[in-house]
Amino acid sequence: MPFYDYRCQQCRAKTTVFTRSVSASVQPTCSQCGSTELQRLVSTFAYHKSVQTVHEESGPPSASPGMDYYKDPRNIGRHVEDFFQKQGMELPQQVQEKIKAAREGVMPKELDL
Ligand SMILES: [Zn+2]
Repeated sequence: MPFYDYRCQQCRAKTTVFTRSVSASVQPTCSQCGSTELQRLVSTFAYHKSVQTVHEESGPPSASPGMDYYKDPRNIGRHVEDFFQKQGMELPQQVQEKIKAAREGVMPKELDL
């Protein structure tokens, strides 16, 4: 929901007005003194800031190697194999099949890696 910040010209209080749509006309009144002499505050900075925040949250692909690592099906089950290898154990047939299936594009939900 878009919203606009206004500065009251009478009491300098800041009023935030929510609108149903960007094209809807807004008749803001001061929440403090009821004055209609409100000046729209330019929110360009806030807009850019929010876009930047989105970029920071998603991040460049290289910033999340963990996710990319497991997006590559060839890496699925690798540390399970390593684990069994370090224990000197043979990978159970059932696990082998699940890993093989996952690497071929089948993502089993029950595969607990
Ligand atoms: Zn006011």
